[in-house]
Amino acid sequence: MSILISLVKALSQSDPAKVCLITTGGTISSVYDPQTAALRPGLSVTALLESLPKGMGNVEVVQRELFQLDSANAQPHHWLELASAIRDIHEEMPDLNGIVVSHGTDTMAYSAAAVSFMVRDFGRPIVFTGAQIPATVPWSDGPRNLIDAIRVAAFGDIAETCIVFNGEIHRGTRVKKLRVNSYDAFDSMDPTPLGVLARDIILYEGRKKRNNLVPKFDIRINNNVWLLKVFPGLQPQILLKILDMGYQGIVIEGFGAGNIPSEENAIAGAISQAVSQGCFIVISSQCAFGQADLSMYEVGRIAAEAGAMSAYDMTSEAALIKLAWILGRTTEPDQVREMMATDYVGEITFLGQSGYTGA
Ligand code: ASP
Repeated sequence: MSILISLVKALSQSDPAKVCLITTGGTISSVYDPQTAALRPGLSVTALLESLPKGMGNVEVVQRELFQLDSANAQPHHWLELASAIRDIHEEMPDLNGIVVSHGTDTMAYSAAAVSFMVRDFGRPIVFTGAQIPATVPWSDGPRNLIDAIRVAAFGDIAETCIVFNGEIHRGTRVKKLRVNSYDAFDSMDPTPLGVLARDIILYEGRKKRNNLVPKFDIRINNNVWLLKVFPGLQPQILLKILDMGYQGIVIEGFGAGNIPSEENAIAGAISQAVSQGCFIVISSQCAFGQADLSMYEVGRIAAEAGAMSAYDMTSEAALIKLAWILGRTTEPDQVREMMATDYVGEITFLGQSGYTGA
């Protein structure tokens, strides 16, 4: 019943909904270049919209072309430019129902996390989408993903920065690209997606709903952050080299619950040296699902004792961007620690210890 009512409502709405589409490149906007025999971004925003089978009905789509980038080439300054573009568009068109950002899938999770932190309380959806196959190829997933994204931006009762892909709606700070080839490129890392697209837009509880809050644009990032993956044989001196290069924050992806080697090639000594020199260390997990819990094993406790903070269940992508965002504001240790453990945009859903003792 509710499905039918909302379908009829969307079809019979007299005033068009208004959505701004910002294009940044990615496979969705790519063309085949015979000279290099490879894909590169090249479709204009108009050409992208022309790939949609029937236009967008009762939705007015305002077009903004921002970049023509393969997202492997995205840099932190592109995140700042994107967040600034969203601020400018909001000031120009405060009546927008939502924003869609078409983007490459490779680094979409980083960009979506960056926008999540820099643009808060937007009150409406900011929806990232893309494709595995260029939009002009007949079997592309681009048109469908773009239609779904515009639909969520126009009508979804959600006020989050999210990724809409393959019929699912993922929170921008809880998502990872897990598949290179499948249409189902992204998954939410616990909890489940924010919603799914079917005949209706089905949205789950726990999301932020549309509201009239005043948007907060806080467009600052400290680029001096590093993401380091632990592997058997990693030499701890690398941490000090990173420090010497001027990095102020390092996310270390530990094993499992955030564990690090404590015998041969023990890392804790280098962590305490880095911390004593003013560098902030955060431990996340290499696992896609679950959380860093530095209290569970001896090989986790030593990291905490050496001064590392836990990323809890933040993805490494979200933890890295959050650290960059925090260090763009403060380097005061107590504040950084407090902010790192504060949930700002749904990036932490499990704060604390698992309580597992093995007993
Ligand atoms: N390399 C592309 C990009 O991230 C991949 C994609 O969009 O699927 O821009």
